[in-house]
Amino acid sequence: MRTPLVVGNWKMNGSISANKALLAGLTEQWQGQSAELAVCPPAAYLNQAQQLLAGSTIALGAQDASAQASGAYTGEHSAAMLQEFGCRFAIIGHSERREYHAETDQAVAEKCKALLAAGLVPIVCVGETLAQRESNETLDVIKRQVSAVTDFVGSEALAGVVIAYEPVWAIGTGLTATPEQAQEVHAFIRQQLGSLGDETRILYGGSVKADNAEKLFGMADIDGALVGGASLKVDDFIAIGNAAA
Ligand code: PEP
Repeated sequence: MRTPLVVGNWKMNGSISANKALLAGLTEQWQGQSAELAVCPPAAYLNQAQQLLAGSTIALGAQDASAQASGAYTGEHSAAMLQEFGCRFAIIGHSERREYHAETDQAVAEKCKALLAAGLVPIVCVGETLAQRESNETLDVIKRQVSAVTDFVGSEALAGVVIAYEPVWAIGTGLTATPEQAQEVHAFIRQQLGSLGDETRILYGGSVKADNAEKLFGMADIDGALVGGASLKVDDFIAIGNAAA
């Protein structure tokens, strides 16, 4: 039985006062239903978020993590550092990092291993571009991105990993994959993970909103969502969490 999970990716948004208002609204309205809710603020605000979430059932996550434990890696944050700030999750391999920071499949696999070793739950993002979908390469791309991670960390670690299927063409565009399109890829990922993947949560991400979440969550292999824009609004994010519960 996989507990549904809804994760908010704030991206590079927020301020001390805006975070305070957002987290006050979320902690007041989220009752700890049968789904899990998590927020991933920018690293600069993890300390603030950790304090504001104290005593709440809302979990904290980071938007990235270094594959290295420590040393001369300017601008990076290790898994152990994230853990000190109360993070349970860390998003890795988001398409914005793959695109703007040239993050490779191998780099994502190494980050995944470092997070698992530190006891954090990696949220590994995979997804095809519009050009790849239009040229029927979707499943090949997904297979390559998923197997880079599973081959490197070993299938026995899979229960502790979350995978987020995020078609690049649906992120921040208002274009959501249909529940059937998403389910096809989720089922493919689950099949690729093998029997140990039965416990792996596979989230959908890409313009999830309060009004499309329920249909997506109704699909057999969709275990929740990674939410960008709608995670910055209390009512919308709570509604998506409730749809998963
Ligand atoms: C994301 O940033 O992972 C995302 C899915 O964004 P949005 O919900 O805004 O499309």
